[in-house]
Order: sequence, then C-alpha cells, then structure tokens
Amino acid sequence: MHIGQLCRDDLRHFVYNHFVMDEVINVIGGGLAGVEAAWQAAEMGASVRLNEMRPVQQTPAHRTDKLAEIVCSNSLKTDEPGSAPYLLKEELRRGRSLVMEAAEATKVPAGAALSVDRFKFAELITERIEAHPNIEIVREEVKEIPTGKQDAYPPVTIIATGPLTSEALTAEIMRFTGDDQLYFYDAIAPIVAADSIDMSIAFKAARYGKGGDDYINCPMSPEQYDVFYNELVAAKSVPLKRFENTRWFESCLPIEEAARRGFDTLRYGPMKPRGLPDPKTGREPWACVQLRQENLMADAYGLVGFQNHLRYGEQARVLRLIPGLEDAEFLQFGQIHRNTFINSPKILNETLATRTNPRLRFAGQITGVEGYVESVATGWLAGINAVRVLRDQPMIAAPQTSAIGALCRYVSNVETKNFQPVNITFGLLEPLPVELRKKHRNKRERHMVQVQHALGDWDAFIVDFYRGDAETQRA
Ligand SMILES: Cc1cc2nc3c(=O)[nH]c(=O)nc-3n(C[C@H](O)[C@H](O)[C@H](O)COP(=O)(O)OP(=O)(O)OC[C@H]3O[C@@H](n4cnc5c(N)ncnc54)[C@H](O)[C@@H]3O)c2cc1C
Repeated sequence: MHIGQLCRDDLRHFVYNHFVMDEVINVIGGGLAGVEAAWQAAEMGASVRLNEMRPVQQTPAHRTDKLAEIVCSNSLKTDEPGSAPYLLKEELRRGRSLVMEAAEATKVPAGAALSVDRFKFAELITERIEAHPNIEIVREEVKEIPTGKQDAYPPVTIIATGPLTSEALTAEIMRFTGDDQLYFYDAIAPIVAADSIDMSIAFKAARYGKGGDDYINCPMSPEQYDVFYNELVAAKSVPLKRFENTRWFESCLPIEEAARRGFDTLRYGPMKPRGLPDPKTGREPWACVQLRQENLMADAYGLVGFQNHLRYGEQARVLRLIPGLEDAEFLQFGQIHRNTFINSPKILNETLATRTNPRLRFAGQITGVEGYVESVATGWLAGINAVRVLRDQPMIAAPQTSAIGALCRYVSNVETKNFQPVNITFGLLEPLPVELRKKHRNKRERHMVQVQHALGDWDAFIVDFYRGDAETQRA
C-alpha cells in the first residue's frame, strides 16, 4: 500500500512501527538527566543512542567513566513527606524512574535525607543502561547538534550535557540559542575547621534568636571592616579563561564581585549584623560574618555567602582578616565552577522542546534547574516527549500542580526577567486552592495537604499516560 492511501489511524500505526523502530533518538550526555531520558524512551520501545564523552574526554569534576556519576554531595536531599523535594522524588518513583530505583537500591543511612553510595549508584545505573536492548552507548564527545540529512526531519535529539558541557558543544549551543542566551558560572563558599575558629572573639547565635546557636558569628568594627573591604576588592582572582562576559548566578554571586558594587553592599548582604548582638557588648556589631555548620560532627563550618573565585593564597590572607578567623584552617577554599545553562524561558516550552524545533529538546541542569533530582525530573519528561514526537503524538506537559510541572513551568515561563537556576521549593508550586489554604492554616499541615493534592493529580496523569502508551505499543 502507498503511504498516501493510509487513513489517519493507519498513518499513526505506520509512523509508530516504521519510525519509532527505525529512527533513533539521540541523547547527548550520560549524566543524571541523560540516563533517565534514555531509559524512559527505551522503555517506550524507541531505539536510543546515548552519547557520553567520558572517559575519552573528562569534565573538570567527574572522576570515572560511569554513567550518572554524582560529582559532589551524595545527598538527593530530604525524603520527608510534606516537603517539596519529597514530592519531586515521589513523582519520579511513581513514574518508574530508573535513577530513583537505583537510589533506593544503593541508599545509605542519612536521617530524613535520601543519600546514596555514589559508586554503587553509578555502577548500577551503568549496568542497567548497558543491558537495555534498545540503548546503544557511544563514548564520544558530540561537537554539533545533529541536523540529519537534507530534506529529512532533523533527528530527535535531547541535549543533557549538564553544567560542564564540553567547550565545542557549548559553542554550538550558543550558535543555536544566540550568544547572549547562555550562562556559564557558579561559585562555592570556603569551609574552615571548627577548632581553628577563635571563640573568644566569635560567638554562637542565630539571627534574631531564631534557631538556637546554629551559627558561629564573627563580629567586625568599622575599622576592621574598612581594612577587610579594601583588601578584598584588591585581592587577585583566578582569571576567567574561556569567556569574557561573565553572567553570575545572582544568588551565588562571588563575594568580591558583590563588594565591588559598593562599600556597604556586604554590610547589607552576607555581612549583615541585624539581629546578631555581640554578647560581649550587647550591641549589634558594624558587620558580621556568619559560619554555618557543615556536618554532623560539627567540626567544619562554611562561611555563609562567601563564595568567591580568589586565588587560594589570597583567600587565606584576606579571610584571616576576619576577627576570629586569624588562624583559620581552610578545609575547602571558595571556588568557581562552570555552570552552563541556557536562557530557557526564551528557548524552551513546557514540554522542554525548543520553540523553534520540536524535535530538539534540552534536559537536566543545562535547562536552568539546579540539583540532581531536578535534573533527573527534566530528563524523565524529555525522554517521554522525544518518543511522542517520533510517534506523531502531541507532546505532554506535567500537571500544573506537580513538582515536575512546576519546574518545567518555571524554566519555560516567558515572563521571567532575571532567569536563575532553581531547586524545587514550595515557592515554585502552584498554590493550593483558596478553600484548602483557609482550612489548613498551619504551614506544615498545609504542605502535607499540598503534597497529597499534587500526588493525586500526578497519579491521574500517570495512569492516563501509561494506558495511552500501552495501547499505542499494542496497536
Ligand atoms: C562542581 C559541581 C558540584 C555540584 N554539586 C552538587 C551537589 O552537591 N548537589 C546537587 O544536587 N547538584 C550538584 N551539582 C549540580 C550537578 O551537576 C547536577 O545537579 C547534576 O549532575 C546535573 O545533571 P545533568 O545530567 O544535567 O548533568 P551531568 O550529571 O553533569 O551529566 C552531563 C553528562 O554529559 C557529558 N557531556 C558533556 N558534554 C558532552 C558532549 N559534548 N558530548 C557527550 N557528552 C558530554 C558529561 O561527561 C556528563 O556525563 C554540582 C555541579 C558541579 C559542577
């Protein structure tokens, strides 16, 4: 039969059987988002080519050749019912997420948090992906966005190359998005050994007494602030090698950049003394540096808001000017790390497809979500929609009330002015209906109800989706 003789349903059948089986979905990047996207697409019957450049080419943070390698903390955040991170994880678990299954199988004791043995976790995911009959893993750096043959549809592609996308592909993405639509950097704060803090100067307190003695505070006089400020703005930074026009992640602005905005900027920002009276004087100091406990042993404290990219020697010299930190032992210096992410509100729609080419989509941290599970969540949706586009089915958005829906709505919201990466929080979720808000005035209770409400909508969405998918696969 000629294709022109087929009716619409036959055509769908034809498209499914011929294109889904023959046409390959390209997933670029075998990190947390890429493996989830590949898995979801493969489970729906599509053939997937998963490109991962490691170990041929390493990133500055990864250490192994394993897929889904976790580069820093092994925590997937709290799993406490009634929290936004729990809701996100639960949606993925109900959506048969490979990454969440591996997290469950390799979890380690961590109180209310879900933390994993990072080696077993990556190993298990690698094994599962390698064993999947529909997935081919190609270990090479992708330098161009696949365009396919002339006159044919461009290949269905998911770019999930993460915060450390290789340089060649970054340039290619920039060509696609426009060079003012890609951002590059993020910074982390220094940590000092608790026993190296001079507690005859520093004092324990939480701002306005909220939270017991959770923080160690280093008070500063006007003269001490003056010296510190001048040394900070004059200190030598690590030069930015690759890109001159840096766009910082505002809520993670390096302290020396913040200081350059004005002499008093820090006193109204990370060195704000409000609500922190020094017990020795009974008065609020002129400026104050807060240090937050980093681990259960309470033997390490991080300088809150002091992310920076000064040279290590300069950091030690300047930060030891802070009263109480004269002899500080640095367990970790502040650093800057690459965080490549696109200006998604201009580029993506809620299904994570690019607005100009529905066969091309992005997933993971490169979309401007922040965090392991957030990246997995966008991979999950991108994988499903990649198959739907192959099958000529309408793409789907996650329900408005869900955590995945909230993340996708945030990254694709054209109204956003100053786009910054985000973790999942209740602030992103659609508020509960007014009557429920009125009924549950207690915050904890309201959050619990909101999670249940969201999961109810999620279940309906998932059931509908799996039923439709099963029918398509049976046809
Ligand atoms: C230094 C650092 C510390 C971090 N700490 C934390 C933390 O503690 N907690 C947290 O939740 N998040 C943290 N993050 C963010 C974390 O990277 C993301 O949450 C998560 O790993 C993003 O998942 P992803 O799949 O988008 O990217 P990744 O997991 O980074 O995966 C991307 C993959 O793409 C590959 N790749 C890149 N370019 C190419 C190419 N051209 N061709 C083929 N393959 C390519 C990479 O090798 C990598 O395997 C940190 C990030 C960095 C850089």
